[in-house]
Amino acid sequence: MRAFLAASLLALAGVLAGQPARQPVSLVIVARTVITENAAHDVLSPGAVAVNGTDIVAVDRLDAIAARYAPAATIDASDQIVLPGLVNTHTHAPMVMFRGLADDLALMDWLQKYIFPAEAKTVTPEFVRIGTRLAALEMIESGTTTYADMYYFEEEIAKATREAGLRGVLGETIIGFPVPDAKTPADGLARTERFIQAFRNDPLITPAVAPHALYTNDRTSLLACTALARKYGVPIIIHVGETEDELKDAEKKYQTTPVQYLESIGFWGQRTLAAHGVWVNDEDIRILKRRGVGVAHNPESNMKLASGTAPVAKYLAAGVALGLGTDGAASNNDLDMFEAMRQASFLAKLATRDPTAVPAATALELATIGGARALGMEKTIGSLEPGKRADLIAVSMRAARQTPLYDPVSHLVYVTRGDDVRTTIVNGKILMQDRRVLTLDEASVIADANRLAEGVRRAVR
Ligand SMILES: [Zn+2]
Repeated sequence: MRAFLAASLLALAGVLAGQPARQPVSLVIVARTVITENAAHDVLSPGAVAVNGTDIVAVDRLDAIAARYAPAATIDASDQIVLPGLVNTHTHAPMVMFRGLADDLALMDWLQKYIFPAEAKTVTPEFVRIGTRLAALEMIESGTTTYADMYYFEEEIAKATREAGLRGVLGETIIGFPVPDAKTPADGLARTERFIQAFRNDPLITPAVAPHALYTNDRTSLLACTALARKYGVPIIIHVGETEDELKDAEKKYQTTPVQYLESIGFWGQRTLAAHGVWVNDEDIRILKRRGVGVAHNPESNMKLASGTAPVAKYLAAGVALGLGTDGAASNNDLDMFEAMRQASFLAKLATRDPTAVPAATALELATIGGARALGMEKTIGSLEPGKRADLIAVSMRAARQTPLYDPVSHLVYVTRGDDVRTTIVNGKILMQDRRVLTLDEASVIADANRLAEGVRRAVR
């Protein structure tokens, strides 16, 4: 590969001799293969991406980029695959602090006996700050460039996310019982409005309103959430149809499904991301499609909590904007989107007994442009195309388990791990280069998290 790069640079020099002045750009990434995830699914081998400031200016064959652009800096990923940064459409970043605290339980037991009480005792602005830094470190190291979140003290999550350099759609939680940052839903809504006002013009942060779920909010607060989101033109994030209990509860209380009850009260309509969507029927799927709701599929969390299997094939056939998520690290137990892709594919195959369900190319699409669509951000991120923000990753393909390499897309989904990511770039800024994270001090992030974990251990004892 060194020889290859040298040859390319020589070619470049030759090209330069007879060419008009090249356009100066901030960065060129030279790749063995560029997977664009554009509408034509173009793959360039070898390829290169030219970036200027925050934006992609060109994605092309290496010689074409070399002829047209004079970069201030170059990243040599000539033995790597370059692809759009991964989009994690559902997580609760600070919950990395509860990783491995309570495993092997059903959702309602897990939430009500462990997670809600642990949160009541431990979640503070400091907890959220340290937890988000840890989550951001893990995301940068495993190739996630955008994530959608819902939690408490979301303004602290936003600050830590911005400092780490990641892109976030961050929802402040509204919930019908006292929580660490709000005594009532009205408190939570007031807090959310301040949060929206503080971050609505941020280039990396999209503030959002996050009613936790139908079963934890009444009609009044659900509609107050939509009114607030409409007032500022920000998205809504909500858990919907995660478990069979949630469905039965809605059938008993409202004589209909969660999706259809929310339709009946006029909840849908604003840009909305629905997490899980496991227990939905065909009419629910039609409503989600008609209302332009994005759905976050979380195969690992759904399997670990035995929640059920989301009807991925039906969503795709209906044209619903579907993305992938890890969910919080307490129910996964990591934030590795490569694993989410693999599990999304395997789970769909097993559930439908059809090995052609969710092929590798589809899984990769769900984790990139699909996720961007689910977040309503497909015009700015999710693929490598001129004019979009420069959110991209370079992935090593040199491990024994990746050898030989016939099909890069197959390898990205079926054998690659987050640890194989070498370089992570968001908004044109290099967050990690050759496994060295530049925006966070890894040792202190981990030391802070371990120190904080002592308090969590004491609180749940
Ligand atoms: Zn969740």
